[in-house]
Amino acid sequence: MSIGGNVAIDGAALWADILETARFGATPKGGIKRLTLTEEDRAVRDWFATTTAALGCTVSFDSMGNQFARLPGLDESLPPITIGSHLDTQPTGGKFDGILGVLGGVAVLRALHDSGHRPRHPIEVINWTNEEGSRFAPAMVSSGVFAGIFTEADVMAITDRTGVRFGDALDAIGYRGAEPCGQHPTAAYFELHIEQGPILEAEDKTIGIVTGVQGMRWYEIDITGRDSHAGTTPMPMRADALLTAARLVTLVNDIALEHAPDGLGTVGLMENSPNSRNVVPGSVFMTVDFRHPQDSVLDAMETAFRDRMLALTAGGPVRVELRRTWDSPAVHFDPACIDAVRQAATSFAYPAREIVSGAGHDAAYMARITPTAMIFVPCAGGLSHNEEESATPDDVTAGANVLLRAVLETDRRLAA
Ligand SMILES: [Zn+2]
Repeated sequence: MSIGGNVAIDGAALWADILETARFGATPKGGIKRLTLTEEDRAVRDWFATTTAALGCTVSFDSMGNQFARLPGLDESLPPITIGSHLDTQPTGGKFDGILGVLGGVAVLRALHDSGHRPRHPIEVINWTNEEGSRFAPAMVSSGVFAGIFTEADVMAITDRTGVRFGDALDAIGYRGAEPCGQHPTAAYFELHIEQGPILEAEDKTIGIVTGVQGMRWYEIDITGRDSHAGTTPMPMRADALLTAARLVTLVNDIALEHAPDGLGTVGLMENSPNSRNVVPGSVFMTVDFRHPQDSVLDAMETAFRDRMLALTAGGPVRVELRRTWDSPAVHFDPACIDAVRQAATSFAYPAREIVSGAGHDAAYMARITPTAMIFVPCAGGLSHNEEESATPDDVTAGANVLLRAVLETDRRLAA
């Protein structure tokens, strides 16, 4: 007998939800700017609460502002099977990154509500606070607190680039809840997401069975030289911080290429001071992002970068200070949950392949405390963190159907 064979995702309703929530923070180019803990974020949270309450859910939020929409199970003594992702976006974000995972969860709730089919476990959909890490770095802080990676006090004290504290921003939108973050049982966790890469589309696959997440590390670098007059300071007497920064950008790229094809290195943020056309730059702040599926290779990349950075600046007038601000080890998902995703894809005869996630996700932290797996669907051109991010209604529906069936299969397996 197929599990929940007569319960199916309403693809049209899911697509309508994607378009409706895209209004909160809509950009002229068709994307979304919905930075975490802003008015736009509050608006979409309110929408999530209202929509899931109408589907028979009890809706709550914890001390980090993580929202939980809970559909009761036949056995309320069982911990919930959870589905989650995030509704915040990058400054020039799209309509799918994170959003599909939450709205796919809403689609699962709707399918269960409309069919009257009740799993034994309660089913909860989670909207995690600040997955993106764009306004408040690092990323995934709230699933991180939930899983015990970060302390709540540390995260509350993080400031954005204008000096606003995370805790104050959370209070300002009214989403600091009474339930202590992490005091929330889970039986399993599933996350549906666009691939954010080109592989599924290139291979004509509808479903990515995600087996884990590559390791990634973030660094911050302060480069200190000396501001001086561009017209009167001879070249040998300069302490040009931006010139050193440029060499470090090249070094990051070289190190990634030395570990091809899996090694990745990016400098995505740089602040040049005083940033004036006739002043030799005296200081630069920049970030570095290194990724690889193996932690041992990441160790080697980090060591190479540090050594060559110091060699590059040794004896010179420019000083560099490197800080590792984030370390997310490679993650391996739960075999039984991966299997539930694989079976679900097979049951619909969707073309599928196994894949390692290149991006970080809340699932990476959830995997540390509960059996976890992810489902990917293709996105056009592999484009993400971009206003033109796009996915087809058919693929989105397929992903949500796999999510639904993987959850029902897990409910059956765990209750057996
Ligand atoms: Zn995401």
